[in-house]
Amino acid sequence: MATLPKFAYFKGRIVPYSEAKVGVLTHALHYGTAVFGGLRGYWNEEEEQLFIFRPRDHYKRFLLSAKILRMEVSYTIEDLVQITKDLLRAEGHRTDVYIRPLLYLSDEVIGVRLHGLHPELTMVSVPFGTYVTNDTNAHVTFSSWRRIDDNMIPPRGKIAGAYVNTALIKSDAELAGFDEALVLTQDGHVSEGSAENIFIVRDGVLITPPVTDNILEGITRRTIIQLAREELGLPVVERPIDRTEIFICDELFLTGTAAQVTAVTRVDHRPIGEGKMGPITAQLRELFQQVVRGKHPKYRHWLEPVYE
Ligand code: PMP
Repeated sequence: MATLPKFAYFKGRIVPYSEAKVGVLTHALHYGTAVFGGLRGYWNEEEEQLFIFRPRDHYKRFLLSAKILRMEVSYTIEDLVQITKDLLRAEGHRTDVYIRPLLYLSDEVIGVRLHGLHPELTMVSVPFGTYVTNDTNAHVTFSSWRRIDDNMIPPRGKIAGAYVNTALIKSDAELAGFDEALVLTQDGHVSEGSAENIFIVRDGVLITPPVTDNILEGITRRTIIQLAREELGLPVVERPIDRTEIFICDELFLTGTAAQVTAVTRVDHRPIGEGKMGPITAQLRELFQQVVRGKHPKYRHWLEPVYE
């Protein structure tokens, strides 16, 4: 059993986790009317410092997700960064952590709508290691589910209710013995993983679906695109990906805050490339770890230190 957080940010202050409770009629609980974020903090042993990775980019997306749901929020990005630091300090973490901010419609009323309701902010953090069980040679499948569409539940927002789609995809994949699943758009292009963006390598070119293929606009995706271009000098192309390109690509990996850079080496029992992690994936994994732990001076500005 996972250990519970000691503290939560709840109704404007940091309280013991056991005091952060909502009523069973809470709107978001019934209708999925909440938006969330998912950030990581990385512990740097030499500096005895906890670094939050790209918190301002995460909180910008968080507030834009809230905007899609018509939430009127008074918190600024800087307020959210400060609350995160206060919460992490209260916990006193000295390990890698996951941070979960949530804005939920807190009214205890019956009636599906978005307007005229009150969003409440809460936040917790927990120690966190790897997310995909097998992140160096994952075996994935194509999900029989389809990705939600921008005109249904916008995947561009990190909307709580939309994650039922993720849960269907993930459980069916894991219960069938796979580590993860890839999911297609309604028109049959590769969208993303259950909770990760996807990249393929073909002939030295890094390819990832465009933001219009019903993906979440991932912070890790953006990070990897920049690192690939600037540090490895790789061409990066954002374009739709066909299903069969997955079978013939040289390398395949997934990116996400939780999944980091997960190497995929088999898809539906077909080997990707030579059936083991490819060189570009390995380089990007290594580079990513240096960056998030503050070991790459050029990208220190992406990190927010928690402790004074
Ligand atoms: N797609 C989905 C559906 C996700 O839930 C996530 C995780 N937040 C991602 C992609 C990756 O996004 P990020 O790199 O910002 O964590």
